Amino acid sequence: MKSKILMIYTGGTIGMFKNSSGSLEPFDFKHLMNYLPELKQFDVQIDSIAFAPVDSATITPDLWIKLVETIEKKYIKYDGFIILHGTDTMAFSASALSFMIENLQKPVIFTGSQLPIGQLRTDGKENLITSIEIAASKENNKAIVPEVCIFFQNKLFRGNRSRKYNAEYFDAFESPNYPLLAEAGISIKYNKYAINKFEQNKIPRFHKKLDKNVFVIKLFPGIPYEYIETVVNIQNLKGIVLETYGAGNAPTDKKFLDILRVATEEKGIIIINVSQCNAGSVKMGLYEASSYFEKIGIVCGKDITTEAALVKMMYLFSLDLSHKEIKKYLSENIAGEMS
Ligand code: ASP
Repeated sequence: MKSKILMIYTGGTIGMFKNSSGSLEPFDFKHLMNYLPELKQFDVQIDSIAFAPVDSATITPDLWIKLVETIEKKYIKYDGFIILHGTDTMAFSASALSFMIENLQKPVIFTGSQLPIGQLRTDGKENLITSIEIAASKENNKAIVPEVCIFFQNKLFRGNRSRKYNAEYFDAFESPNYPLLAEAGISIKYNKYAINKFEQNKIPRFHKKLDKNVFVIKLFPGIPYEYIETVVNIQNLKGIVLETYGAGNAPTDKKFLDILRVATEEKGIIIINVSQCNAGSVKMGLYEASSYFEKIGIVCGKDITTEAALVKMMYLFSLDLSHKEIKKYLSENIAGEMS
């Protein structure tokens, strides 16, 4: 039986064309398909759905909900899903879907490109063609990669471990805290030990709610504490991703710590401590500069990315969970997002 793949086009550079003033603008899906006659050579049935194409810098969590709704509707019929998406916010979108689809048993692969498909040196064709091959690959009639992933420049990443780190070269993504799931050379080499193993007796669950009452604060030397205080006083704010230095360190002066104490203890805001470093992990209590955080109940984000921490909060706040449960799940690995 031929594998069936559903391609969902959301926009991004892959489908863009230069407008009359020279800026790149999203274009419709039919044009994109004209540049991909190779797809007819696949021994795979490829169907497609096109959303109104956008630059991914303009997306909101509504797009993630729409993607989950689409995948849920088509889940039984297809063996895998490819999401064509802009690179700018791809790591957020892939992280979001990794939480919103529980017990996933089929590949959901995000890909896109740094150069539009209509340009001679485009990276879009290879990215898309190899993504389709991976999404269609099975062993013993089961998907080899039943995960939400990003495929870019010959590398398959776990979606909620990746981040865009390069705006110039074709290797736009990295996942320094988690091994590659696969690498494409002459053949595609799967790192099976790193790929999620799904439990066959569990059925997939699709969550279609998110809570946007979250915020990211990136510390920098000299950050005015009144600014942090202003954020803490935002009405309905439920969670903060605090991007700290190195292994999770932050200023130790009373004024700063007191603002955070009021946030967690008096206002019930949940704060997760993540590192500004690309690689490595937050180790709260390793230095005096973070030991107070434990006392006031700030959650240790370990090696989670900011992207994954933010959308994990949006997801957890949308569930019917107690404050204690949210903090517990936030500190634990629930979808492969932290070690
Ligand atoms: N601005 C584009 C987007 O994210 C960049 C890209 O696709 O590479 O939609």
